Amino acid sequence: MDLESLYQEVVIDHNRHPRNFGRLEPADRSAEGHNPLCGDDLLLTLRLERERISEMRFEGQGCAISTASASLMSEAVQGLELRAACTLLERFLKRVTDPAAEASPELGKLEALAGVRKFPGRVKCATLCWHTLKAALNGGERNVSTE
Ligand code: ZN
Repeated sequence: MDLESLYQEVVIDHNRHPRNFGRLEPADRSAEGHNPLCGDDLLLTLRLERERISEMRFEGQGCAISTASASLMSEAVQGLELRAACTLLERFLKRVTDPAAEASPELGKLEALAGVRKFPGRVKCATLCWHTLKAALNGGERNVSTE
C-alpha cells in the first residue's frame, strides 16, 4: 500500500466512523462553522480544564473531507494545552494551504488531509473545523463562515 492510499484509508475510516461525534452540555466553549460552497455545517463544543482541552465533540453535516477532518482534529486536540492546540492549528493550516510547507511529524494522522492542497475547492472543507476551533478558543466570534 502506498502512502497516498494509506492516507485515503484514514479519511474514509474517519468519515464512516467519526470519533467524538456529539455535543457536550454544558460546554465551556462552542462555535459554529459553515462552508456554504460545499454545504458543510458543524458545531464544536469544548470543555477546558486548567488551560487544557479536556474534551471536544462535534456534530453537524458535511462532506467526507469535512467530517474526517473534524474527527481527526478531535482526536488530535483532546488533552492538549491551549497553547499546543494553537500551534498545531497553525501548523495544520499552513500544511494544507502553503505549497511550500513540508510534512511534519507533529501532524501525525492529520497528514492524511494534506492531499487537499491539490484541490483548492476542498481546502475549505478540511480547514472549516480548525477555523471553528480557533473561534471557540478565542471566545469572540462564535459563528464562522468560509465565505
Ligand atoms: Zn465539504
